[in-house]
Amino acid sequence: MSQRTLVLLKPDAVRRGLVGEIIGRIERKAGWTIGALELRTLERATLEQHYAEHVGREFYEPLMGFMSSGPVVALVVEGERVIEGVRALAGPTDPISAAPGSIRGDFGTITRENLIHASDSEESAEREIKIFFPGLA
Ligand code: ADP
Ligand code: MG
Repeated sequence: MSQRTLVLLKPDAVRRGLVGEIIGRIERKAGWTIGALELRTLERATLEQHYAEHVGREFYEPLMGFMSSGPVVALVVEGERVIEGVRALAGPTDPISAAPGSIRGDFGTITRENLIHASDSEESAEREIKIFFPGLA
């Protein structure tokens, strides 16, 4: 089943020069393609929309600060089971629990600065793609 998903390479990934490495892992998956890609510094309003489900959590304000601390790379990735697939490449939220071989497992130590966001369902993907790429059909 072909799908599309919204991926953000977070400010830590950009600062640490891991953009090529992470996009390379995504690009090498059979049949997956990049449908949109942009480097940008996110406004508070954009982040509030994106992380609306987490308002009020103890990690929300530090997360907003971190996510606006530098540019991110936003991508739409398309292909077979790509929503579940990019989440699997990323690994779980806490990088210390993430298996070696996953992006968070290989490069992360801090739960907040965990390198990558990927949509978690078809509904989230469509909602998030509209936030970052409103012009995309
Ligand atoms: P995921 O990105 O794996 O879907 P969540 O949606 O639960 O994770 O959380 C969104 C983001 O908020 C995480 O990727 C991480 O950057 C941050 N975060 C989540 N939980 C924590 C936490 N307990 N402490 C610090 N930051 C957190
Ligand atoms: Mg999430």
